[in-house]
Amino acid sequence: MNRTVRFGTPSPGNPSAAPLLSKAFEWFDAKNGRILRSDADNSVDNEFERHFFVAVISARATCSVENVRQSRVRRVCSNGTSLARTLASAARNRGHCGMTSVATHCPYCALQCGIHITANGHSAVVEPNTHFPVNKGGLCVKGWSAAGTLAHAERITTPLIRQPDGSFAPASWPDAIGTIVRRFQRIQAIHGSNAVGVFGGGSLTNEKAYLLGKFARVALGTANIDYNGRFCMSSAAAAANRALGIDRGLPFPLEDIAQASVVLLVGANPAETMPPVMQYFEAQQRNGGRLIVVDPRRTATAAWASDHLPITPGTDAALANGLLHILIRDRLLDHRYISTRTEDFEEARRVALSYWPERVERITGVAERTLVDVAHALGRGPRALIITARGPEQQSQGVNNVLAYINVALALGAVGKGGSGFGSLTGQGNGQGGREHGQKSDQLPGYRSIESPQARRHIAAVWKIREEQLPRAGLSAFELLDALGTSVHGLFVMGSNPIVSAPDATRIAGRLDSLDTLVVTDFFLSETAARAHVVLPSAQWAEEDGTMTNLEGRVVLRRRAVPRPESVRTDIEILTLLGSAFGHSDRFPALTSAGVFAELARATDGAPADYSAMSHERLDARDGLFWPCNAAAPEGTLRFFADSFPTASGRARFHGTPHLEIADMRDAVFPLFLTTGRIVGQYQSGTQTRRTPELHAVSPEPYAELHPDTAARAGIVDQDQVVLTSRRGTATFKARLTRSIRPDTVFVPFHWPDQRSANNLTVGALDPISRMPEFKVCAISLHRGPAEDQK
Ligand code: SF4
Repeated sequence: MNRTVRFGTPSPGNPSAAPLLSKAFEWFDAKNGRILRSDADNSVDNEFERHFFVAVISARATCSVENVRQSRVRRVCSNGTSLARTLASAARNRGHCGMTSVATHCPYCALQCGIHITANGHSAVVEPNTHFPVNKGGLCVKGWSAAGTLAHAERITTPLIRQPDGSFAPASWPDAIGTIVRRFQRIQAIHGSNAVGVFGGGSLTNEKAYLLGKFARVALGTANIDYNGRFCMSSAAAAANRALGIDRGLPFPLEDIAQASVVLLVGANPAETMPPVMQYFEAQQRNGGRLIVVDPRRTATAAWASDHLPITPGTDAALANGLLHILIRDRLLDHRYISTRTEDFEEARRVALSYWPERVERITGVAERTLVDVAHALGRGPRALIITARGPEQQSQGVNNVLAYINVALALGAVGKGGSGFGSLTGQGNGQGGREHGQKSDQLPGYRSIESPQARRHIAAVWKIREEQLPRAGLSAFELLDALGTSVHGLFVMGSNPIVSAPDATRIAGRLDSLDTLVVTDFFLSETAARAHVVLPSAQWAEEDGTMTNLEGRVVLRRRAVPRPESVRTDIEILTLLGSAFGHSDRFPALTSAGVFAELARATDGAPADYSAMSHERLDARDGLFWPCNAAAPEGTLRFFADSFPTASGRARFHGTPHLEIADMRDAVFPLFLTTGRIVGQYQSGTQTRRTPELHAVSPEPYAELHPDTAARAGIVDQDQVVLTSRRGTATFKARLTRSIRPDTVFVPFHWPDQRSANNLTVGALDPISRMPEFKVCAISLHRGPAEDQK
């Protein structure tokens, strides 16, 4: 059933876009999630309609497939409505016929979808880049509305200095920089170099992450630099390094997903967190593949998948050991692969033998017959692929959990063959590059260890310092935040909002308030910036060039598309100003982003994450390059492990991975599990997305997702205000009743601050290897809120 809708021709500035947009959304067949239009009937006859046509077609690529199920149809409508609102409001401000369009990338998640920005002064419209091979024209609602932050009324446009009465006063750049230098130098003179810390972010470009690490170690001379990516990918990274010898989230391009006969997707909800990636899972299903989702909730992804295993939170290692047990018992191992490509299998086998299916059912809640069915599917399919995400990783046993899943992939002989193996879905926009270039306390650029003498010599030479001037490993992210006011008295924050994103948020807020000096660079007054002594206004994502490394290890150039306000500085300019002000002008010359990247490329030469054959110029001419990219592989490296592993022996390594209990167990007082996560309309701490009207309309407030039986026991009905309490604090949410969650578990999204912060409840228990906090599970109690709070 196709039909053609013909539009009139809007002129620039003509607000006729809204009816056009609503008309076009009649194209959507909401029941089947299809567009009711044939390509042969293309009636696009001017620039505006061309843009709009692309937008609608791309919404199809993002959101709909033939025979979509009900949950996905709702998403089509939600995104579609929001898309209409976004484009209509942009078009109302001005027409965009004849304006230039820049190909760049979305500022949010690790998919780094290709977009076009059509700019007019400081306002802009986002459209998908249909030619970029990752999203292939798909965007989620965050991408569509990304331009909403650029000319936002709450934008900070001048440095701010805290006054004695507690208020902020605008300041000049020299005054702000001078204040920071004076206060940090005073702290270091009294308490030593490490008394000033640096906290970075996984959304910073590679150039910024590199320069921030250099600033910390060269200009401040502190060991204490870490970043919010420690809260995101550190367990997957540590496990991949231990078992496979290298950490690139996906050691293969996304296209490989479509080739897998079975995908075991553990603790990920990409249908909501990065919808365009679902086209690869859709292709896998079209090819006859089976998608099995492990998650305590029946998420949009789980509902869409072939199978859903509603695991008890915190029991991943038991589940993975149970699968390995069945593979051993039922002789479904690849013995040849195990004997020629791996080592230490006996250690994993010995542990797995004690996880017989009945025991695993008791621990995980997954029925024995389901375990056997899944193990057989993995063992008998020609190409098995296991992908983990934050579910198993954000636990105090996160590394152990991921190693347990890697054991299964290795036992199947799946790693290093096309369309199979193991990978982890990176979350933050530059979650991959952010952990490679030196803002992690134990790393130097290129994924080098800060304790390696060879690495230290190489980086010291690039930075023109003596090796002994280079600090050793410092505190990890949560330990750094928890040391504020005791051993660390000054903190420089760039690209992060830890008051909202750190666990045990009330405690961390108190720590931040105990600082002598807190300096924050941001473009909005985030909850963390609002507590600072000095705030530096920075340029936004579309106002500067920079590179990002997406979840495949593909390095892309994010191009400048709009001018920045004259009074703000780029983060690179800020770090250069500060580096010089701390007396290192020769080591912090005024460089463009391309110039910083050239230095980064030299710093990574010979390292695991080797970017030495990349440049902005080369990236500008391509849809990205996969690292390592060096003289030996100038066109980059798509896949790893075909012949060997980058370990000392050239073999992958099994590990014994017994299941251990979570740190914060349930009891009579705190009888429920809390699990937290992201939702489609918000991103991370919400600094940008909570300020974007289109996203606020989609996801205006947090909620507590409860099973109706759990709610009934507490006398709670849908939409009641409920109070959740953990051993650390309380938070209040509106109840959302659903049978898609286990009765023993409550889910809360974590994007909001203050009394609606999920992280008031979470626990700062750390994985002993990755130092990842246990965001994904803790014990809580549930009560109906006071009568006066109920509407
Ligand atoms: Fe793509 Fe992620 Fe941006 Fe959504 S948030 S448009 S999935 S990069």
